[in-house]
Amino acid sequence: MPFFKQKWAFSMIEDNYKQRGLRNKLVKKLRLKGIKDEAVLAAIAKVPRHVFFEDALLVHAYEDKAFPIGEGQTISQPYTVAFQSEKLHVKPNDKILEVGTGSGYQAAVLMEMGAKVYTIEFNRKLYELAKGFLPALGYKPFFFFGDGSKGLPAKAPFDKIIVTAGAPVVPQALLDQLNEGGIMIIPVGNRESQKMVKFTKRGDKYLKEEFDNFSFVPLLGESGWGS
Ligand code: SAM
Repeated sequence: MPFFKQKWAFSMIEDNYKQRGLRNKLVKKLRLKGIKDEAVLAAIAKVPRHVFFEDALLVHAYEDKAFPIGEGQTISQPYTVAFQSEKLHVKPNDKILEVGTGSGYQAAVLMEMGAKVYTIEFNRKLYELAKGFLPALGYKPFFFFGDGSKGLPAKAPFDKIIVTAGAPVVPQALLDQLNEGGIMIIPVGNRESQKMVKFTKRGDKYLKEEFDNFSFVPLLGESGWGS
């Protein structure tokens, strides 16, 4: 049984001074790597990343690395979570679509920043687990199961969209679901490596900015790599 379900089932969610200390060290590391947004850093200092880990990997929870969460998927590296969150310029009450719920960690960070989060997951098991686990931790985003490469037209428009899996192309449906002035951050490239790209909607145009390369699991679905 995946780790976080076990912890949730047995109410073993615990956060002590040692784990808070490790989080503060992680935040220092993220600052050194160039993350400046204080709201992002405060959220990372607050969300207990270790509770998203299975016991065997617990000692690695505050390393700046991605780790397996089952179903062939990963919890993103803290630097990646911080980088994408910073580029979104999150404001309290922003309505944000997250494509790729995964463990729910990224959604928790965005909610800690005051956002209203709509999160969609393509893997049924991960969707069910996050839907049970995150509210038990105190985070209550709106959960959806399905192909997030098509966005969530029934709930659009969004102030911000964050895609947490690597896309082969930029899905037009996602751009179409941005509010005026809205921002989307998405990794785009091949299966091994993707460039982080940010789009800002200005009228009927999108301002495009490109950043470093990252390595995400593939975005599946219609506008992703298929199913
Ligand atoms: N945000 C996650 C977290 O904080 O743990 C990390 C996400 S993991 C790197 C990528 C996730 O995207 C996986 O859980 C995968 O199942 C999901 N995914 C892939 N294609 C998808 C799609 N078309 N729609 C929704 N989720 C998708």
